[in-house]
Amino acid sequence: MKTEGKPSKPSDKPAEGKRVPRRGRELVVRGIPISPGVAIGPVFDTTESPAEPPRRQIKAGEEEAEKQRLAAAVAASRKQVNKLKARLSVLPEEAQGELEPLLDAYAMMLGESRLLRGARKRIEAELLSAETAVVDEAMAIAEAIMAARDDDKAGLKRRAGEVYEIARRLTRNLTHAGFRSFKEVPEGSILVAEELTPADAALLDPTRIAGVATEEGGADGHTAIMLRALGIPSVLGCPGLTEAAQRGDKCVLDGTEGTVVLRPSEAALSAGRESLTAHAKERGRLAKLRRLPAVTTDGEAVDLQANLEIPAELPLIAQAGAHGIGLLRTEFLFLNRDTLPDEEAHFEAYRPIVEAMHGDEVTIRVLDWGGEKDMEALAQGMGPTHSGTNPALGLRGIRMLLKRPELLEVQFAAILRVAALGPVRVLLPMVTIPEEVQQAREIYERVARRLRRRTVTLPERMPPLGAMIETPGAALAADAIALEADFFAIGTNDLAMYTLAVDRAETEVAHLYDPLHPAVLRLIQFATEAALRLRMPVSVCGEMGGNPRLVPLLLGLGLRSLSMNASAVPRVKQAVRSLNIDDCARFARRVMEQSDPRRIQQLVMGFGTVSEDRS
Ligand code: PEP
Ligand code: MG
Repeated sequence: MKTEGKPSKPSDKPAEGKRVPRRGRELVVRGIPISPGVAIGPVFDTTESPAEPPRRQIKAGEEEAEKQRLAAAVAASRKQVNKLKARLSVLPEEAQGELEPLLDAYAMMLGESRLLRGARKRIEAELLSAETAVVDEAMAIAEAIMAARDDDKAGLKRRAGEVYEIARRLTRNLTHAGFRSFKEVPEGSILVAEELTPADAALLDPTRIAGVATEEGGADGHTAIMLRALGIPSVLGCPGLTEAAQRGDKCVLDGTEGTVVLRPSEAALSAGRESLTAHAKERGRLAKLRRLPAVTTDGEAVDLQANLEIPAELPLIAQAGAHGIGLLRTEFLFLNRDTLPDEEAHFEAYRPIVEAMHGDEVTIRVLDWGGEKDMEALAQGMGPTHSGTNPALGLRGIRMLLKRPELLEVQFAAILRVAALGPVRVLLPMVTIPEEVQQAREIYERVARRLRRRTVTLPERMPPLGAMIETPGAALAADAIALEADFFAIGTNDLAMYTLAVDRAETEVAHLYDPLHPAVLRLIQFATEAALRLRMPVSVCGEMGGNPRLVPLLLGLGLRSLSMNASAVPRVKQAVRSLNIDDCARFARRVMEQSDPRRIQQLVMGFGTVSEDRS
C-alpha cells in the first residue's frame, strides 16, 4: 500500500501503521479470471503517479481556469476513491477493516480539506499551476504533521503518507500520465496496476511478464482480449489489490481461477507450483491437436480461425493450429503514436501477416476507433473525436470512417494491394444500417479504380466486404444488411454490451455482463439464420467463439466458423472433435426455449451429462 512518499517518489516504502495491511501475511484477492495459466513471481507495481510534474507558473488572469482544472481532478479522484469503496464488500473482513478507514481519510481530503484550500490559495497568491500548488501544499502539510509532538511516529508518518497519496492521485489526474513504459519490469514479474489500457497492454512483452493483475477492468474489454491474446496469465477487477500489494511481494496468480495470492504461505506456494506443472502438461496435450482437423464425430467440418490483436501474436497462430485469421484488428497500427499511419505503413503491417498465412484467408477489419479504444493519433486535433458523454454510442467504427473517408481510403488501398499476395477479406466495424455498407462499398470501389489507374496489381475478384454484427440493431436488421454485405462476423463482445447496456470493461457491472443472456442468444440466432438463408458466410469472432463450453450451443445454432484468440484454438478444437451435430442442434433448441439466464448457464455448464445433451 502506498500511503507514504512524496508525489515524486512513487515507489517509496509504505508507512508502518495500524491501517496498513500487515506485511508478511498471506492475502488472497479474488478478481475476474481473464487469461488462463498460473504465474509465480514478485509483484512489480506500476500503479504510480507520473514523475513529479515540472514546476509551472501560470499567468495572471489564468487563476480561475487553473482552479477549475483542480476541481475536475478532485472530482475524478473522488470518483476513483468511491469506486474503491464500493468494492470493499468483496474483500475478506480483515482487509475491509484495514482499508475502510484509509479510504474514508482519502475521501475527507478530497472534500473541503486543508490540502485543497491551501492549493487553491497557492494558485491565486503564487500563480502556480494546479499540480505545483498541490505538491507544495502536500509537502507543507506533511512537514507540519511530522513536526508535531507525538510519540506515535509511525502514526504521524502514516498520516503524512495519506496526504502524499492524495496529492499523487490529484497530480496524476491533472497531468494525464503519458504512455507507460514496461521496459523496466524485471523478467518473471507479476505486473500489478490500478488499471491497464489496451494501449498499455500492447506494450507488454509476454516473454518478460509472468502475469498481470489489475484492480479495474472487465472480462471482455480490449485489455482483457489483449492479455488473452498474449497468453499472459491474468486476473482483472481485483478489489483492493493495489492497496495490498507492494513491489517485491511474492505472488501466486491463477488466471483460470481468478485469484491473486500475495505473500503466499508455503502451502499456497506449493499448490501454485503444482498448478503450474499441470498447466504445462495440459498445454503439451493440446499441442498434439495442432495437426488434427476440426471435425465433429459425424464429420462436419468447423472452421477455426484466429483473432489477431497485435503482430507479436503471429507465431502463435500457426502453433495453435488455426486456419487463417477471422479477425485482424487494425487498431494496433494507431496505438502509442501521435501521427496517423500512411498507406505504406498499413501495407507493410499487413504484408507479413498475409504471407505468414500461406494461402489461408485473412480478414482485415478496418479501424474501429471509439468507446474504450482511445488513440492519441486520432485524438490530437485530427478531426472529430469520440469524446462525448457516451463515447460507445458516438462516432465509433464505421461511423467515424465514413465521416473521415480519407482514413478509410488509405486503409482500403493498402488492403487491396496486399490482397494480391494472398486471400483477404475486408470487415467493417459497428455497422448499424445497410447504407453504411453501401457507402463503404462505394469508397472501396473508388479506391480500387484509382489503384488500377496507378497500374497496381489487384486480385481478379475484389476481396469480399463484410459487416460486423455487433449491435442489437444490426442483428435485428441482419436480413437487410445481408443484402449489402458479402459476409457477417458476429462480434459478441459488443453485441452483449449494447444489448444489456453493460460496459464490457467496467468492473462495477461486470456481474451483469452475460453473453448467455437470452436476449444476446436470440440476436445471435436471428443474425445467423439471416445469413444461412442467403448462404452467406457467417462466423463468430467475439470472445464467445473461443470458449470451449459454448461450442455445442454455437454449432447447434448453425455456426460453422469461429474465430478466437490463438491460445483458445486447441481447446475449442478438442471440443469440436468430441461433438455430434445432432446433439448440438437438440441442445441449442433446448437452450433457446429458456428465458432465465441462470438456467441457461446451468444447461451450458452441464452439457455432456446424459440428461442434457440427449433431452
Ligand atoms: C466484438 O465486439 O465482439 C468484436 C469482436 O470486436 P471488438 O472486440 O474488437 O470490439
Ligand atoms: Mg466490437
